[in-house]
Amino acid sequence: MSRIAYVNGSYVPLREASVHVEDRGYQFADGVYEVVALRGNRLVDAQGHFDRLWRSMNELSIDPPMTEQAMRLVIDQLVRRNRLPNALIYIQVTRGVAARDFKFPKANPAGSESALVITVRPAKLDHSQQLRDGVRVVTTPDLRWKRRDIKSVALLPQVLAKQKAAEAGAFEAWMVDDDGFITEGSSSNAWILTRDAKLITRQATNMILKGVTRTSLLRFAEEQGITIEERAFTPDEAYQAVEAFVSSATTFLL
Ligand code: PMP
Repeated sequence: MSRIAYVNGSYVPLREASVHVEDRGYQFADGVYEVVALRGNRLVDAQGHFDRLWRSMNELSIDPPMTEQAMRLVIDQLVRRNRLPNALIYIQVTRGVAARDFKFPKANPAGSESALVITVRPAKLDHSQQLRDGVRVVTTPDLRWKRRDIKSVALLPQVLAKQKAAEAGAFEAWMVDDDGFITEGSSSNAWILTRDAKLITRQATNMILKGVTRTSLLRFAEEQGITIEERAFTPDEAYQAVEAFVSSATTFLL
């Protein structure tokens, strides 16, 4: 069965799904995105992802292409049409199609010109073997801009970081800032548990993406009475730690 994507108002077979060559997402990475896990036909942490998507759009003055309620209905339709109980939902909003000019295109009085693409990809969300065996991580300099709190589609530094990890046979790359502190993984947040049982993850400022899974894990840890420190840590501290792990919507916790 062909996978179905949603592109600017239409449900289309994935192989026919396409966007305009002058889409600003394509030309300028002028767009934002979210990845939401679907487990057993249920969206995980959906509200957190919608809230962050709206925040990302707002920070970049991108008009929402529709209401959150309408987007939930589109996703519901896509999930039905794709019949994949375990999947990753990819949502991308760009500033739309316009003649190539850095400045924002003039607002369309008829309504939003933002472009919306949503795809559903089958995913093996069972990571039990990796959980048992552990995964390898390399470090790499963090080459990104200073608004990492926005989930922008400008991902070239993360592409390079993940490629470096893959070439080293590792699962993830932890990016290191100019002061020698780990910021986060190329597509995950970074955590350690110290010998004195403190759970450490970097504070959510503009220097990292505030992971939705991170927020949930912090809540669980608090409920368990675990001591939490939201602060930056170094690769050396990670070596000294009793545990080190990553979190994201795709991996949950590894
Ligand atoms: N940091 C970065 C840079 C990411 O790309 C991701 C994945 N979206 C995360 C952290 C984890 O965020 P979440 O738990 O919301 O998936």
